Amino acid sequence: MGNEDHTGITLIQGDITGQSVDAVVNAANSSLLGGGGVDGAIHRKGGPKILEECRELRASRYEEGLPAGQAVATTAGDLPARWVIHTVGPVYSTSEDRSGILSSCFTESLRVAGELGAGSVAFPAISTGVYRWPLDDAARIAAQAVMNSSAQVPDIRFVLFDERALSAFQKAFDTA
Ligand code: ADP
Repeated sequence: MGNEDHTGITLIQGDITGQSVDAVVNAANSSLLGGGGVDGAIHRKGGPKILEECRELRASRYEEGLPAGQAVATTAGDLPARWVIHTVGPVYSTSEDRSGILSSCFTESLRVAGELGAGSVAFPAISTGVYRWPLDDAARIAAQAVMNSSAQVPDIRFVLFDERALSAFQKAFDTA
């Protein structure tokens, strides 16, 4: 179902939990203890090991939760992947420009993936669900962040849930 290719970047319509990649990026929330959307799907399909490691992270490095714009890896449990990289997108705001935080989700996730030695990474459309970021703008920020990243990950995929998200990302990469 690959659609578009920009030097190692592929846009796919589908469910991110079905992707066979080294690292799947989770649109998590700060608590790291699960939520809806991508987060819910990853924990449902990945099983309890992921939550167990998230709880350990909350008890050690991230007692206050994972701040928006940062990323941290755990096992991928039963998913067809080696790691889940949890990143927390910003909630969309009309009164404050949080695009730097959204951009950071992509660069930080890629940095973590690079450190792990991941050859392939799958991203969802971070912040465009429960966190309400307008799709076209989120796609533009994602495309710019990934294309300007210096991380060494040869295979980067965006896995978009529906046709509307897929075409927003296609447009963003075409014009980036
Ligand atoms: P956020 O809280 O960062 O907004 P969500 O998980 O609510 O994150 O949504 C992010 C995007 O992921 C939305 O566009 C949503 O439609 C999409 N999405 C939800 N479930 C999946 C899935 N299983 N695979 C890929 N994308 C998904």
